[in-house]
Amino acid sequence: MLKEDVTINDTTEIAKKCLFTGIKVKDYDRVKTNEGKPLIKYKVEIGHYTKHFIVCEKCFEKTKNLIDKNQNAIHSHLLNGFNFIDEDKNILDGKEIHYKSIENFIQTIPIFKNPSDILNNIFIKIMETGLKEHKKYFLPLFIKNSQSYLLFYLNSSDEKELYLETLHEKKLISCTKLATAFTIAPTYQGLIKYLEITDEGTKSNRCFIAMSFDEDDLILFQKGISPACSELGFNAIRVDQVHPESDQTINDLIISEIKKSKFLISDFTKHKNGVYFEAGYGLGRGKKVIYTCHEDYFDKLHFDVKHFPILIYSSPEDLKKKLIAKIEAFILD
Ligand SMILES: [Zn+2]
Repeated sequence: MLKEDVTINDTTEIAKKCLFTGIKVKDYDRVKTNEGKPLIKYKVEIGHYTKHFIVCEKCFEKTKNLIDKNQNAIHSHLLNGFNFIDEDKNILDGKEIHYKSIENFIQTIPIFKNPSDILNNIFIKIMETGLKEHKKYFLPLFIKNSQSYLLFYLNSSDEKELYLETLHEKKLISCTKLATAFTIAPTYQGLIKYLEITDEGTKSNRCFIAMSFDEDDLILFQKGISPACSELGFNAIRVDQVHPESDQTINDLIISEIKKSKFLISDFTKHKNGVYFEAGYGLGRGKKVIYTCHEDYFDKLHFDVKHFPILIYSSPEDLKKKLIAKIEAFILD
């Protein structure tokens, strides 16, 4: 009896805050599924977004350590408009969130390996936010002090100030610190730099990934492609994990992400039509494309891509090793 009381108290304590961000929530509720499994249900404001979370308590307990270790990063990712999704890519807003979705969400948070990646990311975020808020014209932007470091995937306000000052010193932005906010305006050099990064992607640290998005292929991304890219300072971008603008179709999104990328990795395993299109579009934009294919699927490839040098692999680990060698020789050289 005593043991059960303790368990209930613990959970009630946890449920007063958002399980993923630690933000205080008012209207939380504990409900049960038809099978009697406990769920924690609440609404929380994260930046511009209102999220309706329904979290499976058992699955939350299983991932609690992972969540605690990554709380800032999870908060950042949610603030940047990313969502928990299920195996069929449905956004889990107001729907039950279980183990796999939590694990998948955490694994897809971008990792910035060094200060220059962080700086680039902050710069692009500032420019894109400024451009989005004012449509095509970049006008001064207000970045509030409290917690806005999370928007940039940073750990503290001090860190944020340091990076903003650096961008200011590099004359990429003009930044003024007010009592409760920063006001940030673009500079001529900044706009040029932004166009360089986004129009042609030559200085970008993004790599566009064209591949099958079937659930059983996720492991290829998680254990092969993504770690190979991040080991060399690139962020692997899967378009199904990017939040589109409200007026943007999926095709617009694909095209804008390819433009922003330095290079592409096209995996022909399963012969998805989209992969052929995206590789072709990338090539047309003058991007370098790395072609990969699982050994079981190579024989069935379209004749016209068989002429390209294709990395053939046997496992995600094998793919990772071969990709690192290929990126070093073909992209970084
Ligand atoms: Zn569950």
